[in-house]
Amino acid sequence: MKLRFAPSPTGFLHVGGARTAIFNLLHARRHGGKMLLRIEDTDVERSKQHHAEQIVASLQWLGVEWDEGPFYQSDRLELYRARAGELVASGKAYRCYCTVEELEAERNAAEKAGIAYRYSGRCRARFVGAAALSGTDEHIIRFKVDPGTIAFHDLIRGDVQFEGELIDDFVLLRSDRNPTYHLSVVVDDIDMQITHVARGDDHLSNTPKHILLFRAFGADVPVFAHLPLILGSDRKRLSKRTGATSAEEYRDLGIVPQALFNFLVLLGWNPGHDQELINANDAAGVFDLSDVNKAPAIFDAEKLLWMNGQYMMRMSSDELYPHLVPFLGERVKPLEEIRAVIELHKSRARTLKELAAQIEPFLVADDAIEYDAEAEKKHLKGEDVAARMSELRDALANTQPFDVATTEQSLRALAESRGLGAAKYIHPLRLALTGRGASPPIFDVAVLLGKEKTVARLDRLLAKLR
Ligand code: GLU
Repeated sequence: MKLRFAPSPTGFLHVGGARTAIFNLLHARRHGGKMLLRIEDTDVERSKQHHAEQIVASLQWLGVEWDEGPFYQSDRLELYRARAGELVASGKAYRCYCTVEELEAERNAAEKAGIAYRYSGRCRARFVGAAALSGTDEHIIRFKVDPGTIAFHDLIRGDVQFEGELIDDFVLLRSDRNPTYHLSVVVDDIDMQITHVARGDDHLSNTPKHILLFRAFGADVPVFAHLPLILGSDRKRLSKRTGATSAEEYRDLGIVPQALFNFLVLLGWNPGHDQELINANDAAGVFDLSDVNKAPAIFDAEKLLWMNGQYMMRMSSDELYPHLVPFLGERVKPLEEIRAVIELHKSRARTLKELAAQIEPFLVADDAIEYDAEAEKKHLKGEDVAARMSELRDALANTQPFDVATTEQSLRALAESRGLGAAKYIHPLRLALTGRGASPPIFDVAVLLGKEKTVARLDRLLAKLR
């Protein structure tokens, strides 16, 4: 069994494409087959090398590991030309010399008559000597589509059929001798011994053409699986309107690759139980293309955030660290210095970006803590606040050992001795240490910062209060 993921490098890796890649990978892994990566870059206008590189990088980031490739179709143009020539030689394809004007006239006539335009096929009969007639050899090569039903069984769609009568004599080679998608995709699927073609639903109407080509080449027709569309939360085709659409954008938003992988696996497939968290290995143990849902899948970005939070919570600080580094910018610190800080925060954030923002107070100098205006208004109240904080500062400066239980004891004993609630100390302390109104349990925060910084940050708050 051999599958392929065959993106056209005309943009970033779309999440729909990423899901196609994942489904190909999982089906191959489940059945002990192989998957290859093929870059379909024969459209010279729209294909860009940097897009190909981005797609490769996104797949690697996502953990989609192909077995062969990437192959570039632009390296294989001579093969496509030769194969088109073979079909002409065997009478299954023909040279078409129709001019743009002639085709235009045909199209206009069809429009006037109110019928769907199809190429008349006139060059099937007239090609002999046409070059001589026109004085040029400029031509395209068309495939001869004969009438008759083309039926196939799609692993997802079930039985599908198309009528040959409704299919144009489609183009294989353009006048610049570049292949069309139909030709290059089938030549490659044959040459690369592809047994299963899983691709987006938008290719369904291309499939009868491809089947005719496989047959014309005398090759086995692969098994097809057309994956349903992915819709946005507005139930329309996923687009920028409702959020990010590329794997790269989700990476930049702070989604860990394992979470995006898991989320995409569940777009149109489930492992047969409603447990949402499933890793790549476990999915590969049970996945089958024939279990993919026919109905379009809905991309629920909220669910992705939830799932990402679940993954971050379950990952160790060591695992998270390399993913987090790009979000820390120049504030980055060695893992040893912030391992415990990550540990304390990782179950409180839904994205790496949020996590980076939350741990910021641990990465900056004491005098760089900025006080959140709202938290300040709320927690620096009362005439006695400076006195309270001053006493707390001294109590903590004298706390020994400076651990979670003992610091908590010191604060509570002080509050009690003054007949005040502990909250009167805890909230301003949080503001002093983090600048924020919310954080992990404040004694954990204080201990992680250490006595020296805790006292320094309280001094700084006091200076502001006086
Ligand atoms: N290159 C095509 C695309 O990006 C996919 C072709 C195929 O899978 O057959 O849509």
